[in-house]
Amino acid sequence: MRSPCPHVTDGPVLVSACLAGVPCRFDATARPEPGLLAHVIAGHLIPICPEMLGGLPCPRAAAEIDRGDGHTVLDGGARVVDGDGRDVTALFVDCAHCCLEIARRYGVRAAILKEGSPSCGYHRLHQGGRIIPGCGVTTALLRRNGIQVVPEIIGLAGVKAA
Ligand code: SF4
Repeated sequence: MRSPCPHVTDGPVLVSACLAGVPCRFDATARPEPGLLAHVIAGHLIPICPEMLGGLPCPRAAAEIDRGDGHTVLDGGARVVDGDGRDVTALFVDCAHCCLEIARRYGVRAAILKEGSPSCGYHRLHQGGRIIPGCGVTTALLRRNGIQVVPEIIGLAGVKAA
């Protein structure tokens, strides 16, 4: 039987699958976060990888938002471009909508996402060899739809009670 979690009483919480140990990053590696793994195993967190849900392969070319951040992409003012120079904007927006659909279907209220990713980034991104402030495309779409996003460094302790 699953153990109760004091942080997850008002609806499921998503977590970036790579933080849960799934090797789904562009280079087919994971970034397991020890403080979250026990909660994944206990069923308190639902692992989800936007880019793989949206149909991107693994491994895949690393991608970056070319200006602004995920909000700029959703507003049509920026593109997501991969390391091979391909415009993958539409794919990344589809990825974000897949996550939102799952979140709505299962009554998800929050997501703990991987910092720095063009999909899951919380408040920083890689852009042209620099680190710039801004969030990923999935993070932006979830926030626009009332779903709290928390970076992995804060984890479950940052998920607000509903
Ligand atoms: S950061 Fe997000 S999109 Fe990238 S591998 Fe992890 S879960 Fe998938």
